[in-house]
Amino acid sequence: MNLSDLFSIPLDRDPERVAIEFRDASGSAALSYAELHGKAARFAAVLAQQGVSRGDRVAFFLGNRPEFAVAYLAVLRLGAVMVPINLAYRQREIAHILGDAEPRALITETAQRAVLEELDAKEYPVLERVLFVESLAVEMTAEEAPAVAVDGGELALIMYTSGTTGRSKGAMLTHDNVLATVSGLLAAWGWSRADSILVTLPLFHTHGLVVAMHCALAAGATIHLRRRFDARAVVEELGSGSCSLFFGVPTMYVRLVDELRACGAAESLRALRLFCSGSAPLSPETWSAFRDLTGHSILERYGMTETGMLISNAYARSGSTDGRVPGTVGVPLPGVSARIVDTSGDDVTPGAEGELWVAGSNVFDGYWRAPEKTAESFAMDSAGRRWFRTGDLARRDLASGHYVLLGRRHELIIAGGFNVYPREIEEVLETYPGIREAAVVGRPHPEWGEVPFAFVVADGELPEGEVIAWCKTQLASFKAPHGVRVVEALPRNALGKVQKHLLPKDL
Ligand code: AMP
Repeated sequence: MNLSDLFSIPLDRDPERVAIEFRDASGSAALSYAELHGKAARFAAVLAQQGVSRGDRVAFFLGNRPEFAVAYLAVLRLGAVMVPINLAYRQREIAHILGDAEPRALITETAQRAVLEELDAKEYPVLERVLFVESLAVEMTAEEAPAVAVDGGELALIMYTSGTTGRSKGAMLTHDNVLATVSGLLAAWGWSRADSILVTLPLFHTHGLVVAMHCALAAGATIHLRRRFDARAVVEELGSGSCSLFFGVPTMYVRLVDELRACGAAESLRALRLFCSGSAPLSPETWSAFRDLTGHSILERYGMTETGMLISNAYARSGSTDGRVPGTVGVPLPGVSARIVDTSGDDVTPGAEGELWVAGSNVFDGYWRAPEKTAESFAMDSAGRRWFRTGDLARRDLASGHYVLLGRRHELIIAGGFNVYPREIEEVLETYPGIREAAVVGRPHPEWGEVPFAFVVADGELPEGEVIAWCKTQLASFKAPHGVRVVEALPRNALGKVQKHLLPKDL
């Protein structure tokens, strides 16, 4: 089975059901499954005329809109490979991806024209084959391209990682890789065709694309697609009763909690069946505040661009939501194996900290045209099994058996020989009155080698000395930050992940 086969199951079963409902400032549109797939088949004919064929890459520099799904299904139909580009990227980053992936065509929208015009057209032949989705209605005829029978082992996606260090790398995902994540999530989270999901996450990232869009279109559910997240609009829409699911990143939940407190409409969200969070750590404070307001225990899960989804809290355990433990990401999803290992690659003792390694048919093939980076990212065990080194540090909570993430390996602080996990200090700081968000980084120190420093977003002035003294009552003293600086906002990427390398270096 390939992804086109998977997506055609709901088409055959319930062609008239609404697949995508879209609304923005300029209007609204709705596509049934039959219309979505019909347009995709006709768009595939346009792409084929442009010379796109099996194995060719097609770059997307496109915001959330129904044509994103139409164009993606068209690419899959031809056996081609989608390369989504983060819309926040500018000349240098876009040029890197175009140069590396060498796409045959680029699909975009007029809103992105100015950014693309900054690129040197002579350097990128693809810029001669830019398709603006607004003009497709004119270009599409009644002709439908036949579906190419690609094998599950062929590439479906090359997704460039957010790359907080160095140049971003293209993670090669096969049809089988994506199918493994999607089928695991369909089962684990109880998706059905009765579902409808509000999607405000960007579709260029794995969270919006694989977790939300793929699962919904495979389940035969309805996607309420929006250009972007707006807390007030989300509360209104979820409160209107038209959705059963909402997926977000932690910063969205922080804003939803603020909005719900301000508008007092939390009761109206009770009817949803599931709220999920992922892509960055969700603080137990936000989890509890959301539950107190709405009665919902947010289901936190963990995954990566390279692997799809890996670990998740339980959707339901014995008919309740008690299987969800705040501050943990749960247990491996169906088909995923996980280990926590020390620096020699040996399993740590139960409960101890180490790097998380994963294996499963969801795990990507490797990085595009980067065999050395691929080789560095995998380790073979004595039985010949290939493990992906996630670069994330984790431990297992012995009481619940759940995995707890401790931050990225390269962000680990080693103070006087002791391992200090920034995440642990951030969680403590976020319980201090007036501190809304915290990011802890290591800074060089003559005696300790490295020590933790904190950047926080606070409601007002903070007595630095008191915060540090208080941290020492909550944590071993070598973990207490040596300084706490209040900043207006933490630097975050499009998915709300804190970009620690962009924090000031002078602290
Ligand atoms: P991306 O490839 O952009 O999805 O980023 C993947 C990275 O996001 C992981 O390697 C983790 O460091 C982080 N991440 C994803 N989900 C979570 C989570 N629930 N809690 C903490 N970090 C997460």
